[in-house]
Amino acid sequence: MINKNDVVTVKIEDISSEGQGIGIIRDESTGADACGFVLFIKDTVIGDVVEAKVMKTKKTYGYARLVRIIEQSPDRVTARCPVARQCGGCQLQEMSYEAQLRFKQNKVANNLKRLGGLGEADYVMHPIVGMTAPDEPYHYRNKAQFPVGCDRDGNIKIGFYAGRTHDIIDYMDCCIGDPVNKDILRIVRQWMTDNNIKPYNEENHSGVVRHILIRTGRATGEICVCLVINADKLQRYDSLVGELAKIDGMTSIMINVNREKTNVILGRHCETLWGRPYIEDCIGDVRYRISPLSFYQVNPVQTKRMYDKVLEYAQLTGNEAVWDLYCGIGTISLFLAKNAKKVYGVEIVPQAIEDAGNNAALNNIDNAQFFVGKAEEVVPEFYKNGGEGDTDSARSGADMLRPDVIVVDPPRKGCDTSLLDTMLEMAPPRIVYVSCDSATLARDLKYLRESGRYEVRDVQCYDNFCQGVHVETVVWMSRVSNEPRTDRA
Ligand code: SAH
Repeated sequence: MINKNDVVTVKIEDISSEGQGIGIIRDESTGADACGFVLFIKDTVIGDVVEAKVMKTKKTYGYARLVRIIEQSPDRVTARCPVARQCGGCQLQEMSYEAQLRFKQNKVANNLKRLGGLGEADYVMHPIVGMTAPDEPYHYRNKAQFPVGCDRDGNIKIGFYAGRTHDIIDYMDCCIGDPVNKDILRIVRQWMTDNNIKPYNEENHSGVVRHILIRTGRATGEICVCLVINADKLQRYDSLVGELAKIDGMTSIMINVNREKTNVILGRHCETLWGRPYIEDCIGDVRYRISPLSFYQVNPVQTKRMYDKVLEYAQLTGNEAVWDLYCGIGTISLFLAKNAKKVYGVEIVPQAIEDAGNNAALNNIDNAQFFVGKAEEVVPEFYKNGGEGDTDSARSGADMLRPDVIVVDPPRKGCDTSLLDTMLEMAPPRIVYVSCDSATLARDLKYLRESGRYEVRDVQCYDNFCQGVHVETVVWMSRVSNEPRTDRA
């Protein structure tokens, strides 16, 4: 029986989805395989033996605070960032990069087995693609959102939220972000001090500057700075713009108006103070226009590798009809379009679809078409109506009822069964599933496999979030059934 305030000694065996170490206290009489009491202990890594004080308990699990490390894991390293333990951004900085990669690969394999019912012999899993030398698993992020606030004495704080709180850690030199961030933040801080511009105060909903959003285009060198403000207009910004514009690559200086009492960072309205309302970046040969409100992958180096894999799994020759579901600003759609006959993208955010259309034009791509809406509604309706309502030629609309490839890249919650059912009816020879959550991925793969019509062929993980717990996975599924597809077209 484990109680609050107990001090226990335990070995860390795994890392939770939130990045805490997991230790299991087993009753010795029942043996190592019996389920024990699970303790989540922050700041520990797999292989550590630690002394920890129990802070909170539930029936089968609890949370404990690290008291001391009794025996260090061979994978333990000193974090590069001095505030790594306080900050909620990175969870794995105290684990060697090799161990991070091993942990992520195992996590995906375990989920595929446990939740997806996939045995090792059922598919091929390649070694995870990480940012090992000559890459660096630091400074990879092209986007950062720094909260701005003040301490008790009214001094400005700019940095990151401490884990699970809204306490701001005043630190501007984040080692997974772009080195230019620090210069930009210094300028904003100085301008706020000189002009008596108040940081936002969450408690009484007063003050002006809430967040500083910075985006960089790695291939183009373009930079966008966007101040999220609790006001309709920004005052006295001439000197701010003057200083920021001197930074090499500065392309866009904007404000985003957010007057709501909310945890959501961005409001709906943006205004340009200087330059263009967007930056551009390239992945491979495709150029993308990115506005502050659009979703864009945060690790461009790894994204290119991941999209190359999607292209490989899609096996395009130029004649294929492809759906790209959850398409964002059309990144994957446009990456595939040059090798396909036709690509349809579906995305829930209207602004992203507007960007997708502009991005197609920017790249002279005329065989990609985009639809706003929920994938689980748009696709089933399109199928039910036999492609009617498609503004394209009837022939092409018909092709899309019988696509050659369906790519899905859903958010963490995965795909709705109504969408998976329609995918099964559309019966494409290949499905490429891009996932940022291996638990929902495993669940969805299981659903598709249990139809008896699809098998998992190949799995490849990518470390797009070095130092953090998340992992991306690309899966190739192929149709096994030889039954002819009922011709709805
Ligand atoms: N494939 C894109 C975006 C992937 S992120 C890329 O690689 O850049 C997932 C996207 O799904 C987000 O753009 C999000 O807005 C969108 N989304 C979330 N729920 C959705 C739904 N139910 N239907 C369609 N799109 C959805």
